[in-house]
Amino acid sequence: TAEFSGKRVTVAGLGVSGVSAARALAGLGASVTVVDGGDSEALRERAASLETAGITVRLGDAATLPEGTDLVVTSPGWRPDSPLFAAAAEAGVDVVGDVEIAWRLRGPDAAPWLAITGTNGKTTTVQMLASILKAAGLRTAAVGNIGTPIIDVVLGDEPHDVLAVELSSYQLHWAPSLRAHSAAVLNLAPDHLDWHGSMRAYAADKGRIYEGNTIACVYNVEDPRTERLVEQADVEEGCRAIGFTLGAPGPSMLGVVEGLLVDRAFVENRQQQAQELAEVSDVHPPAPHNIANALAAAALARAFGVDARAVRDGLRAFRPDAHRIAHVADVDGVAYVDDSKATNTHAAQASLAAYESIVWIAGGLAKGATFDDLVASAAKRLRGAVLIGADRALIREALARHAPDVPVVDLDRTDTGAMAEAVREAARLAGPGDTVLMAPACASMDMFTNYNERGEAFAEAVRALTAGRGTDA
Ligand code: ADP
Repeated sequence: TAEFSGKRVTVAGLGVSGVSAARALAGLGASVTVVDGGDSEALRERAASLETAGITVRLGDAATLPEGTDLVVTSPGWRPDSPLFAAAAEAGVDVVGDVEIAWRLRGPDAAPWLAITGTNGKTTTVQMLASILKAAGLRTAAVGNIGTPIIDVVLGDEPHDVLAVELSSYQLHWAPSLRAHSAAVLNLAPDHLDWHGSMRAYAADKGRIYEGNTIACVYNVEDPRTERLVEQADVEEGCRAIGFTLGAPGPSMLGVVEGLLVDRAFVENRQQQAQELAEVSDVHPPAPHNIANALAAAALARAFGVDARAVRDGLRAFRPDAHRIAHVADVDGVAYVDDSKATNTHAAQASLAAYESIVWIAGGLAKGATFDDLVASAAKRLRGAVLIGADRALIREALARHAPDVPVVDLDRTDTGAMAEAVREAARLAGPGDTVLMAPACASMDMFTNYNERGEAFAEAVRALTAGRGTDA
């Protein structure tokens, strides 16, 4: 920790991770300046509280590098081509993220990290992993892109045996010296390409998670791109490649056999070919993509030496967070499902695959994605579509190409109230047995603060459908 004492550190971004990094580094004796391009009332309030801790805050200018900066600590959302980073490069100053700082602050006996990334399923899988580790009696926490800022956890008083760490591609991009005990890439589909610049750059950032692993690199057998990342990684000697599959597992894999999750990578009894871990029905919800998440979590736990019973108990105890394929209500025989967290096409594809007859509410910020594959794979199951948000034309055009007979309502609205109208239109298109699925395949920030708010707006609109109708509806 002496490494930061007396250093002049510039923190980019006055968000949750920026505030955490600023306070921690100031506490270690660094001289900290936080810069943020915004200048709102909320930011000024936050700035005032930091200034009482001796931290300098500069609002309204995100581009110029403060004089004498030794190190830049960035928030995950900042684009790598931000002018501030160009200025840092020019001045020969390193740019790192909060995860890198947390890694460098770990003591010599610190808890090892079991790390998870992927386009989708990170939060769910990290929580499943933490649940399994707890069931094994280990002191752990789910951290990273989730919960308490990772620097606060590493510097905190609570002792841990092992951490379950969720890492976004942004965080990996800015964490060059991170070395996990074991790590998993769950899947890899185009997302955030506007940030990373290309699929190749995005994959390279995700692949960083395997660098220097000591025990296991866990990959998705059904997604060969993840296995290729393992092959390209520079790992410690003896580190194994472990696959997970929804089919029957080969050697060094976990998979599914006759309704059971089984492990052929870490068998406890040499006489046995495979170790039974849990039943598929122990996984909530038991949708295919979520069983894959459970297998990945189990693989990391097993790499850490956790026994089969704890895997089962941990999976049984786990429940997913809100807005992830959440059943809101049944109205007139139609199920209403909130998958607001489906912020990209890959996630939306997983939830569209879980229902038979769907009226789909979609649209928002596309982040550079295309929708042809998604719409083509779901076309047969679509009864209708209602489009909202800034980039809805891209989805409308894909529907016209691949599902020309599906009725489409294009709301041409980007205001928050559009969700209520979208739900009413979807209700009109749906019949008994159908599912109205809000899995937008897009980010929410054109209309809402975040996906939570979008999910709440949907749930409220669904409740409004039945309001004033009497209780026998
Ligand atoms: P992340 O933290 O990576 O955003 P979440 O666990 O929050 O992932 O899930 C995000 C969305 O992706 C949800 O809408 C969920 O339905 C979907 N999803 C979860 N796991 C997978 C998976 N393995 N493959 C595809 N989609 C998934």
